[in-house]
Amino acid sequence: MRRDYYAVLGVVSTAELREVRQAYRRLARQYSPDVNFWDARARDLFGEIEEAYRVLSDPAARAMYDQFGHALRDGAALAAGRRGEDVHVTVQLEFADVVRGTSLRLEVPRFSPCAKCGATGVVGDARCPSCGGRGVRRAVDPVSVTIPAGVDSGSQIRVRGEGSAGPFGGPRGDLIVSTRVQEHPFFERKGDSIHCEIPISVWEAILGARIRVPTPSGEAVLVIPSGTTGGQVLRLRGQGLPKLSGDGLGDLHVTVRIEIPTGLDSRTHELVRELERLMPLEPRTALERYRGGAT
Ligand SMILES: [Zn+2]
Repeated sequence: MRRDYYAVLGVVSTAELREVRQAYRRLARQYSPDVNFWDARARDLFGEIEEAYRVLSDPAARAMYDQFGHALRDGAALAAGRRGEDVHVTVQLEFADVVRGTSLRLEVPRFSPCAKCGATGVVGDARCPSCGGRGVRRAVDPVSVTIPAGVDSGSQIRVRGEGSAGPFGGPRGDLIVSTRVQEHPFFERKGDSIHCEIPISVWEAILGARIRVPTPSGEAVLVIPSGTTGGQVLRLRGQGLPKLSGDGLGDLHVTVRIEIPTGLDSRTHELVRELERLMPLEPRTALERYRGGAT
């Protein structure tokens, strides 16, 4: 049976609003779900306390209650329409999920309408034993969520109306999905742009070349201009990641690393010597003025 609201708050039926409020604050602190989340009895008590306060702190509702008691299901009527809480979950995504977006089926812990009492909190004349008279029960429900391309670690996706149900048939809050994205072993992400390092041969650096490089969405042809130096950054426009706004793609920045052949035999050694004689280079002449620490 539902307890008398005055008894729930531990005040006399002639208590003033101030006393009602004081009693509520003291009890709410004691039975707060923040403190007692896993204690089902404390949660039920807290629901009862909230309901009692909602009615007794509202002069019109209190007058109705004094006249009709619980018969009118006034508590339910007054609490109905209150929106449920938002529910937060975190998901781990693969790098590839960010490139194309993905859809997930999540198991979401949330409050859902009580089936036993049809979310009214009452069965016959008694408080519903299944939900303790709150009209909602803890449940774990499957929810399909679309993850857009371009999300990053710390992105939040709000799924409207998939949070906890409000008490007594109130609308659901939202489901808020926070994403964490696994790092890629090769592609380094900076927002919607991607950085990577590609080795090229010294011959490709000297002569120039068109090479195939991996990109997040497949592969692309990168033009190496003749005379490319090690550490140079070449940009492939639009080969990065999709922007979360849906407004195009970021760029792929390729840092070039030059590979030098080793293990020359006497013939190749002589050929490189010959090249050096034909194309002498003095790459450090500009540094001479710094000798001895001069600026
Ligand atoms: Zn119920």
